[in-house]
Amino acid sequence: MTFSAPFDNSFAALPASFYTRITPTPVADPKLLAFNADLAKTLGLGEAGDEDLAFTFSGNELPQGADPLAQLYAGHQFGNFNPQLGDGRAILLGEVVDSTGTRRDIQLKGSGPTPYSRGGDGRAWLGPVLREYVVSEAMHALGIPTTRALAAVATGEDIYRETALPGGVLTRVAASHLRVGTFQVFAHRGEVENLSTLTDYAIERHYPNADGPMGLLRAVCAAQAELIAAWMSVGFIHGVMNTDNCSISGETIDYGPCAFMDAFHANRVFSSIDRQGRYAFSNQPQMAVWNMAQLATALIQQLDDPDAAVAEATEIVHAMPALIEAAWLKRFGAKIGIAEPLAEDAALIDDLLALMQQDGADFTNAFRALSGETPQDQFLDQGAFATWQAEWQARIASESDPVAVMNAANPVIIPRNHRIEQMIQAAVAGDMAPFERLMKALATPYQTTDTDLRRAPTDGEIVPATFCGT
Ligand code: AMP
Ligand code: MG
Ligand code: MG
Repeated sequence: MTFSAPFDNSFAALPASFYTRITPTPVADPKLLAFNADLAKTLGLGEAGDEDLAFTFSGNELPQGADPLAQLYAGHQFGNFNPQLGDGRAILLGEVVDSTGTRRDIQLKGSGPTPYSRGGDGRAWLGPVLREYVVSEAMHALGIPTTRALAAVATGEDIYRETALPGGVLTRVAASHLRVGTFQVFAHRGEVENLSTLTDYAIERHYPNADGPMGLLRAVCAAQAELIAAWMSVGFIHGVMNTDNCSISGETIDYGPCAFMDAFHANRVFSSIDRQGRYAFSNQPQMAVWNMAQLATALIQQLDDPDAAVAEATEIVHAMPALIEAAWLKRFGAKIGIAEPLAEDAALIDDLLALMQQDGADFTNAFRALSGETPQDQFLDQGAFATWQAEWQARIASESDPVAVMNAANPVIIPRNHRIEQMIQAAVAGDMAPFERLMKALATPYQTTDTDLRRAPTDGEIVPATFCGT
């Protein structure tokens, strides 16, 4: 039986220079590890047994209507421009229009080499496949825009990083895989017609009300501003905010060395390759603005009046820090029970964060405890917390339902790094129970009752770094 999907492919109808048609490389022994049946349903996918699903989502058997291709893009990686990247280990099967009317890409990741592999093997190992599966679905459940995970398949083949590791393929679903880097590649080559075709395509697909290239820029800036504030409100550190990992749709994309913070520190970095802390927690707003400046630089190259375009683009990008600030205030205001925070409330929030940093308080648990009986238990400096608490209580006295506001803004559970590592180790040993348990708890992050998964890591459990050894 061939798995069926109501494919309706629009990217494949763009000029041939936007991609390379390529089929996935079959794997030895595909086994289905996880399948997101709820997501499959919203995508209108047909039902199938595990074996068929494993064959389809390993790339061994193409579903009818698929038109597989690898997308071309460029990107600034840690600030350095690479004029050609592209899908080195991902293959877009095609698009479907989901039950909400949104067009979604269905993409295999880890499905073998492409013309853009640049010496890489085109593969992924199970660790990052399952990490992305869990974290992207957790992000979705938290209500933050993100790519989704449809399937995880073990390939039955070893791949080689520092050592032999079991291979995997992730099926990723996205509003699209258009990135800042997709625009950069054509801008850099001076291919103005392609740039303009891409701009029209992005507007039609994501921001149908946007007016031309500068309208698109404005819309992406707004979406990215909301996204960054949302990440910060749950202690998320993306870790590799390169322009090729910055989505035009405003979804979180590319869960490489990302992590959620346990103990709060504004300068927290997890990625082992981010040695200078470029993508540290509190640098994320600046980096998003930097990425939007790169998008602006690319977009203006199609405009007839360069001086006017530069002036408008500059105005848009310069407005972005204030957008992030406003979104941050709204998010963090809610975290302390203020439904409509005012600019002066930022000081109260900053004071709390400073106290959390000083005491090494757990970001998630400390915020959630504010609506509980004993928030002081999350802090070491009891005097300092009591002072802050008195000021805070005076401020929220006039709020109509601060507890409800807090409980909707402060998750009980986030995918903690040590739990992800434990889950990966178990999965590699053939035990998917920790994966299932994590997925279940993370599906209702504002209500979960799994107290052990809520717990901050003990000193011995802390996993301080993530690796890009993907
Ligand atoms: P990332 O840092 O994950 O955004 O990846 C940057 C670029 O490297 C993208 O173009 C990827 O497709 C490519 N890449 C990453 N890992 C591999 C791999 N194992 N084989 C081929 N290309 C890869
Ligand atoms: Mg990437
Ligand atoms: Mg990656």
